[in-house]
Amino acid sequence: MDLFEKCRSFTRADETKAAGLYPYFHAIEENEGPVVTIEGRKVIMAGSNNYLGLTAHPDVKEAAIKAVEKYGTGCSGSRYLTGTLDLHVELEARLSKFFGKEDCLLFSTGYQTAQGVIPSLVQRGEYVVTDKDNHACIVAGNLIAAGAASYAGAKPNEAVVRYKHNDMKHLEAMISRLPLEAGKIIVSDGVFSTSGEIVDLPNMVRVARKYNARILIDDAHSVGVIGKGGRGTASHYGLENETDMTMGTFSKTFASLGGFVVGDRAVINYLKHTAPALIFSASPTPASVASAIAALGILEREPERIDRLMKNARKMRSGLKQMGYRVNEHDSAVVPVIIGDTEKVLIMWKYLFEGGVFVNAFIRPGVPPGMEMLRTSYMATHEDEHLDKILDVFATVGRKVGVLS
Ligand code: PMP
Repeated sequence: MDLFEKCRSFTRADETKAAGLYPYFHAIEENEGPVVTIEGRKVIMAGSNNYLGLTAHPDVKEAAIKAVEKYGTGCSGSRYLTGTLDLHVELEARLSKFFGKEDCLLFSTGYQTAQGVIPSLVQRGEYVVTDKDNHACIVAGNLIAAGAASYAGAKPNEAVVRYKHNDMKHLEAMISRLPLEAGKIIVSDGVFSTSGEIVDLPNMVRVARKYNARILIDDAHSVGVIGKGGRGTASHYGLENETDMTMGTFSKTFASLGGFVVGDRAVINYLKHTAPALIFSASPTPASVASAIAALGILEREPERIDRLMKNARKMRSGLKQMGYRVNEHDSAVVPVIIGDTEKVLIMWKYLFEGGVFVNAFIRPGVPPGMEMLRTSYMATHEDEHLDKILDVFATVGRKVGVLS
């Protein structure tokens, strides 16, 4: 059979479009932050990760423009060779300081960061121990590590051990079967991207200490959201010294594009010279790095933005819950509205959009059965009138489709 046959017979997306229920790839024509224009319609954005609303901040825009004027539009090379600017070095120094770690390394996206870090650190006879609901970039990094180990003679997937979602008892049960002396790293989202749950880091640290494991936390949805001054999950629990490495992205709070990892100097130096995702890919553009530097400056100077973000997210979590929706109790900026049915999610998405609210529809296979949801997320720049409107539309739509009584 022709390799492309599966593509030609892939009809799911077209069927959803034909039914008028397709929630993906809608082009944004104007973006003011909390309000965007899509297909000529002004809608409130309740699905962005622009947590502090900084993509529209004049200082961030100005930094990007100045960087283009000074350095041009692209770096045309990898960090390793011709793609290191003084801007990259500056941002690495600023982030090391911000997280209280010895050193930092930038990657071109958050996704590439996990793909670079995990396989470089985990080699044959070593293990990555991973939450089964971790972000796709961690899964990709794990698969590369497993593939490389199997080239080196390991059994397929020997290098990767999965534990039940945020279940530290199961983590302990799985890790205790591995040789104590073997190198291991436990990897987890800090704030889980789909559910908004916060990882149980205190118990993870206890297990890591007992079984000779290092810890890497992906703080994509935590930086600028939880922890002191938005310093993420380790800071949220006061476990900065016990968390070996933190990675993150510039595509959310930092209003830009790119990724980073912070940790011990020796580890960062090793990654700098071994991570293919760094060495064989062009470095983040001058405008991306300059915007992230400007956004970090605002985060440091104006922590009250985080208070506003959390106030907004709490208002929405309690408002949706009071209405009768199923939400969770974790105190992050991601508030999933769990519907548990693909068709209802798609129909609700359409009615919400028509009512002037944009959210993200998460259906299978992206989420497990029963967890089909409308994932909402909030910004520091949402005003009460935006939030009240979102609640109103959710109430109307929930009754219309019979999810609320
Ligand atoms: N980690 C997590 C937990 C994420 O949610 C995301 C983005 N959705 C990434 C990593 C990837 O970041 P980026 O957009 O910079 O590739």
